[in-house]
Amino acid sequence: MRKQIAAANWKMNLSYAEGVQLIDKLIAEGIAPAAQQQVLLAVPFPYLDMASQKLAGQSGYAVAAQNCHQKASGAYTGEVSAPMLASMGLKYVVLGHSERREYFREDDALLASKVDMALSNGLTPVFCCGEPLSVREADAQNAYVAEQLRNSLFHLSADQMTGMVIAYEPIWAIGTGRTASAEQAQDMHAWLRSVIAEQYGASIAGQVSILYGGSVKGSNAVELFSKPDVDGGLVGGASLDAVDFAKIIRALK
Ligand code: PEP
Repeated sequence: MRKQIAAANWKMNLSYAEGVQLIDKLIAEGIAPAAQQQVLLAVPFPYLDMASQKLAGQSGYAVAAQNCHQKASGAYTGEVSAPMLASMGLKYVVLGHSERREYFREDDALLASKVDMALSNGLTPVFCCGEPLSVREADAQNAYVAEQLRNSLFHLSADQMTGMVIAYEPIWAIGTGRTASAEQAQDMHAWLRSVIAEQYGASIAGQVSILYGGSVKGSNAVELFSKPDVDGGLVGGASLDAVDFAKIIRALK
């Protein structure tokens, strides 16, 4: 079975002490993820080391960065590179979140180079895609999201694609409290899997974990994750509450 993943995205939230407390509370929930399950905590850069140390003995838990630069090193003040993340022992990085696409003008071509940099340093990208409300209202979401995958991922080898994690996050559902219905999520995930299958074959498409993101909460996670092509979630707001995020982890297949 492909990995079922609950990924917390803290974004630019929490003080250091609050971050420590949140991880302590999550650990205290005592959840032992099953072999096919993975919990990720995408924390701010300054907290990566703290989070890694706290989760070191917790099997099924890993820490993720929320971004990395497309270059390996150099005069890019304020940036963090994939080799730096790998040198800390990290295994995951979130790339292409809609907030980075919107506020930092990250486009498909730039993201393709970030994906390459991450993969060449042994990091698994959690690659985000998703349509704005205007595209959904025009019922053009399938072509829009497929294009994002084609432009940023379809240069990858079959081996590289097999290890990818994709997060479908309709922009109109992020931080708005408006969740895609489980049917809308399933339809899009099945569509994306078919687009990957067309390019790489059904066997590889069947191994790619596709997470849903957009106002996932403890109260809706079971229904969303019960859909056959929804392999867990990328969670913003609700991941800042240990009890609610624990419910989301427990909702994984
Ligand atoms: C996100 O940050 O990726 C996200 C989906 O946020 P929220 O769960 O708050 O909608």
